[in-house]
Amino acid sequence: IKFSLNLKMNNEEIICFDAFVVYHNVVLGPAKGGIRFSPYVSFGEVRTFAEIMTYKNALMGLPFGGGKSGIKFDPYKMNDFTRIAIIKEYVHMIKEELNSGAYIPAPDLGSSPQDMSIIYGETHRPETVTGKPVIIGGLPGRLQATGRGVSHAAKLGIENILKKDIKKTDVIVQGFGNVGRWTAYFLHQMGARITGLYDIGGIIYNKKGLDIEKLFKYAPTSKDSIKGFPESESISAEQFFSLETDVLIPAAVENVITGDTASAIKAKLIVEGANDPTTAEGEEILLKNGIHVLPDFFANSGGVVASYFEWRNAKSGNQTCEKEVFELIDKKIDTVFWQGMEARKRLKASLRESFFSISLGTLIEAMKARLWI
Ligand code: NAD
Repeated sequence: IKFSLNLKMNNEEIICFDAFVVYHNVVLGPAKGGIRFSPYVSFGEVRTFAEIMTYKNALMGLPFGGGKSGIKFDPYKMNDFTRIAIIKEYVHMIKEELNSGAYIPAPDLGSSPQDMSIIYGETHRPETVTGKPVIIGGLPGRLQATGRGVSHAAKLGIENILKKDIKKTDVIVQGFGNVGRWTAYFLHQMGARITGLYDIGGIIYNKKGLDIEKLFKYAPTSKDSIKGFPESESISAEQFFSLETDVLIPAAVENVITGDTASAIKAKLIVEGANDPTTAEGEEILLKNGIHVLPDFFANSGGVVASYFEWRNAKSGNQTCEKEVFELIDKKIDTVFWQGMEARKRLKASLRESFFSISLGTLIEAMKARLWI
């Protein structure tokens, strides 16, 4: 669905924003996937992300199809009043999709739990949107869920693929938004050293490890930059990607590990926190250089796993505490990690191909069950 959101600001000004909603494959259930606010979002990008959601939901055994939506505007340059008006207009335009439960949004790049509360405020039905603030029916732990899953996937990769002790592991993370900060937080708690961080405002490095708790205070939200953090030196993007490290976690935007950047990477394991951060050319170079990649549709699935519990609770009235949510995410990631490792051994394939084969198997089976094929 492609549409335009038009707001009359005053007698002289009408502002218009392109918006997109994509359903990729809904054989397993309603289309589930985040809503992206970005001045660069395009139909093609939303389509790619909806496809990733199809594989992610199938891989994690969730009763959801692949969906995604986007509004082309810069949330960081918008005042609250206008942002709220844009979101209300978005709900107005797709209210049939939301009220019927055909599409269930959640936060993604540039959008936050607060924005989900505006959607809920318009539909009045808690199951129409996930990633809401906890106080209004959101799931305790949903905020941290994606980072929780990424950090747990990284831990499994460090211990079982790199065969390293996490306490002797260096990690660098691109992105200090929702996914990046919580990934860094949990890995730091597990004893890993986070030596480099990279956000849109700056890139910082400390070879002894950055103090993540202090960074939470220094840059409390996705809008605040880590730039200038006192206990660090500022480095360039080229220096960041070529840092000596065990693990690199891209957790910001797509297409960062490319044919141009991949050959400089010295990390031995990439854990994709962001969606689609590695291009096909980038991955080819990584694999040739013996670098393992835990793919996005496995590694960053903690968010949608938690969203599933939020959606289920909204329908049933059940409640789940944060500890339980983290345990459920860890357990799902554990189970699927070992399924992927088994497929890798059997197929002698890359990790991405191995996880993909599991998703595809589930989707084909479901399409046969529904007589689609
Ligand atoms: P966010 O808006 O909270 O944070 C984005 C971070 O990326 C910020 O630190 C920002 O400074 C940085 N950034 C933005 N543009 C950049 C650029 N060009 N170069 C370097 N850094 C840049 O977003 P988020 O929710 O953390 O999402 C990050 C990624 O994770 C996206 O690819 C998103 O699709 C994916 N993801 C998010 C979730 C979720 O639950 N939020 C779930 C799965 C996947």
